[in-house]
Amino acid sequence: MNQLTDISTIKEILQRHGFRFSKALGQNFLVNPTVCPRMAQACGAGKGVGVLEIGPGIGVLTRELAAAAEKVTSIELDARLLPVLKETLAEFPNVSIIHGDVMKLDLGELIRQEFPGMKIVVCANLPYYITSPVIMRLLEEDLPIDALTVMVQKEAAVRICAQPGTRECGAVSVAVQYYSEPEILFSVSRGSFLPSPNVDSAVIRLRLRPDREKDPQKRENFFRVVRACFGQRRKTVLNSFSAGLSISKSETALLLQSAGIPENARAEQLTMEQFSNLARLVAARRENDIL
Ligand code: SAM
Repeated sequence: MNQLTDISTIKEILQRHGFRFSKALGQNFLVNPTVCPRMAQACGAGKGVGVLEIGPGIGVLTRELAAAAEKVTSIELDARLLPVLKETLAEFPNVSIIHGDVMKLDLGELIRQEFPGMKIVVCANLPYYITSPVIMRLLEEDLPIDALTVMVQKEAAVRICAQPGTRECGAVSVAVQYYSEPEILFSVSRGSFLPSPNVDSAVIRLRLRPDREKDPQKRENFFRVVRACFGQRRKTVLNSFSAGLSISKSETALLLQSAGIPENARAEQLTMEQFSNLARLVAARRENDIL
């Protein structure tokens, strides 16, 4: 088969299958031949490694992953792509395609069945309309995954990978940091896709923290605090936290002081340690109320 990044090859295949791109499903297929090999290498695809891919499209990244990994399982929502994938992936017996919605499938069960005894990573050029929900689902569900290497819109990459304490940081950045160590690997220009989107992209890698919090109650406490702090973005933490958790300003001021946070700080200026301190203090306060 000719290179699947070759535009005339792609057009010929899609025309033969009567396929039209769906904007709603975020269908922008990679046509830059350098991107997939870089992603496959960065995600750690190799012997003994199982790769979960989301949205294979016509299989351009899937082929690259399959050539390197022990096994690739790809979830595709658009049934029209299934016959295309059957053709483009015919030479790879180590690929399974699952027809379904990544937001609805039981991923824990799927991983158990598909990758017995393998180290597991995720690699995908994500459909942009569900970037954050997919990433959060993969991080929150305690799946046995080592890392996610995904292509997202450039602005989303900056937001997702922003360090707490920096201007770009938001609730999503804090949540991502809570579960993983994120990094931006490289940029991908809009011209690398067919059809070409209006924005540039970037490939990011999130390595799951082996020591990430597993206790659901502690997680819930932490995220209640984060949501409250970012609830009123332009306000100080004193105001947003007090309003978000219905705690008086005077008590909030004391909690902030104990957590080592200046009263006039804004949520994006807080470090992970300060969020954790605050979450511990709020949990202790609630326990005292209950006792
Ligand atoms: N991997 C291909 C590439 O790089 O050329 C295609 C990437 S394209 C940005 C996103 C793919 O995700 C499309 O094939 C689309 O049909 C699929 N998709 C969209 N929503 C999905 C969902 N909820 N679950 C699984 N796949 C989905």
